[in-house]
Amino acid sequence: MSQPVPTDPGALALLEQPPVDLVVSDTIPDEPPAEWFGCYADQVDVLVAEPQPDQVEQTHRVMSLLAAASTTQYSQNGWVASADRNALGIRTFAVPGRPDVLVPLRADVAPLLLAFAAWWDQNVEPLVVPGNWGYAYRDIRGASGLSNHASGTAIDLNAPRHPLGAVGTVPAAKRAAIEAKAASLGLRWGGSYSGRKDEMHAEVVVSHARAMQLVAALQATPPAAPPAAGQRTLQQGSSGEDVKVVQRAVGVSADGVFGPKTTSAVKSYQGARGLSADGIVGPKTWAAILAPPPAPAPTSRPTLRRGSKGQAVKDLQARLNARYPAYSKLVADGDFGGKTDGVVREFQRRAGLAVDGVVGAKTWAALGF
Ligand SMILES: [Zn+2]
Repeated sequence: MSQPVPTDPGALALLEQPPVDLVVSDTIPDEPPAEWFGCYADQVDVLVAEPQPDQVEQTHRVMSLLAAASTTQYSQNGWVASADRNALGIRTFAVPGRPDVLVPLRADVAPLLLAFAAWWDQNVEPLVVPGNWGYAYRDIRGASGLSNHASGTAIDLNAPRHPLGAVGTVPAAKRAAIEAKAASLGLRWGGSYSGRKDEMHAEVVVSHARAMQLVAALQATPPAAPPAAGQRTLQQGSSGEDVKVVQRAVGVSADGVFGPKTTSAVKSYQGARGLSADGIVGPKTWAAILAPPPAPAPTSRPTLRRGSKGQAVKDLQARLNARYPAYSKLVADGDFGGKTDGVVREFQRRAGLAVDGVVGAKTWAALGF
């Protein structure tokens, strides 16, 4: 096997501060059980590192400096390896969303490996504990050279379920997605090795500079916004702010959890509107829920005064009685006489309106019409 090409400038001074919220502790858990050690074989027949053209010159400069000076060691992917985990900047991290899954990793690239682990947990299979590991100072099994775990740039997920060399321990349908996700994070999944497979394993395969770009991009990505009302189909089991919108529309308690009561109310709502009463809020039901409310009928309330007669006067008298029972005991007869005039003026006085006994737009509005 050929010598590794250093892609890590090796300058530990370049180590960036890890994202504080990911670090759990500076101590490293006990090493994994012996039956996992197979993983630390890594890839034995493919040289991983592929420095990008603009980094070749820098890499060569670094290599010559190192050749002259040092005993610096590199793992197979060209990153600095060491038995001194503190010198490498190894910290222990929790997988996002899984505070129980702790993995020791080189801090500056940890976000990439952790993002892969979190994605695996959500999209491939839940991570089991124990079963996950990162940094370990080990040789590649069956070959000379240091495992990428020795630089803290590799991670094993659900190790007992994916023994070294076993093929097909993850569903075939998910393999392409796993490879794509790994590539997007500057990683390679051991299941795509050309030689012996290692389906528990993923490792950094890009230069330090590229890895830092990917970390920055990852950390700049805002968390996905919750779906807005109407963006997704909702049914029993759904939860979120958009469920509350449905619940308000169908008249149940808006707790954001789509349970049996919400299903029942949605069915009633659908039935009342000629929609298929399946209890599932799809595009048609959303359209009904989100339709703008009918425009209020134009208010062409006539201006009333003493001597006016008709339905509008009846409405006025009824409203005054309902709203101000303590002082309005009018007969709602549709005849604007002296008694009605008196009540209107009293209302206007109390409402801070011009006290003229004339029921125009302002007085109507103050009465809630
Ligand atoms: Zn591994």
